[in-house]
Amino acid sequence: MLTLNPFMHFHVVTLFPDLVAGYLSESILARAVREKKIKVDFYNPRDFVTPTKVQKGKEKPYLRVDDKPFGGGPGMVMEALPIIKAISKAVQKKKKVKIVFFSPSGKKFDTSYAKKVSGTYTDIVLVCGRYEGIDARIKKVFKMEDVSIGDYVLTGGEVPAMILIDSISRQIEGVLGNFDSREEERIATSEVYTRPEVFEYKGKKYRVPKILLSGDHKKIEEWRGKKRTGEL
Ligand code: SAH
Repeated sequence: MLTLNPFMHFHVVTLFPDLVAGYLSESILARAVREKKIKVDFYNPRDFVTPTKVQKGKEKPYLRVDDKPFGGGPGMVMEALPIIKAISKAVQKKKKVKIVFFSPSGKKFDTSYAKKVSGTYTDIVLVCGRYEGIDARIKKVFKMEDVSIGDYVLTGGEVPAMILIDSISRQIEGVLGNFDSREEERIATSEVYTRPEVFEYKGKKYRVPKILLSGDHKKIEEWRGKKRTGEL
């Protein structure tokens, strides 16, 4: 019997916390937060910058968190110290903590990674890059793993952070109402049907495959397995 971790604390280091907070404000993840099965805290590198320079024509000092890359090239690089301070606040004295940095060239994220992380750690720090990425020296200060969510480049690590939070939360006990909902543990296919049994659209009738109405669970599982592998 698989035992699931009852709680996970996510710490998101991002310049744009509202992007991620919005995703957590609805549906299953919002319930998980409400029921204290997961907790998500945000650390904005901008909050760790000393406001020194007041720019011409501006009332407020500009809180710079990025600068031009040494060696030239396009884009900006996120400065090391604001991120180091943000990570350090998240980590504090925690022991079972993993730090992830999102990078398109990192280790590919998948379900087995989500399971491993949820079974091993109580705290996960998710560091979201923007622009050209983060100053490489941050990785000399903290041991962190580069993680990619796929072979494409996004504008920032916030969508990857939402993906990790979503998929790791599914592995936390009680986040999905019914343990059996975790399709990672059963045969599931994207070909699913609900009521009505038959509907008509533009003169044509659309029916649910008969097998699903048969009540024969063994046959239904077989059918789903074949649908999943593409045999059917
Ligand atoms: N030139 C950089 C990419 C910058 S994209 C490089 O080659 O690493 C800006 C930020 O978005 C990255 O720092 C990273 O945090 C995030 N990002 C973009 N695509 C991603 C992907 N496929 N997986 C994970 N993070 C990604």
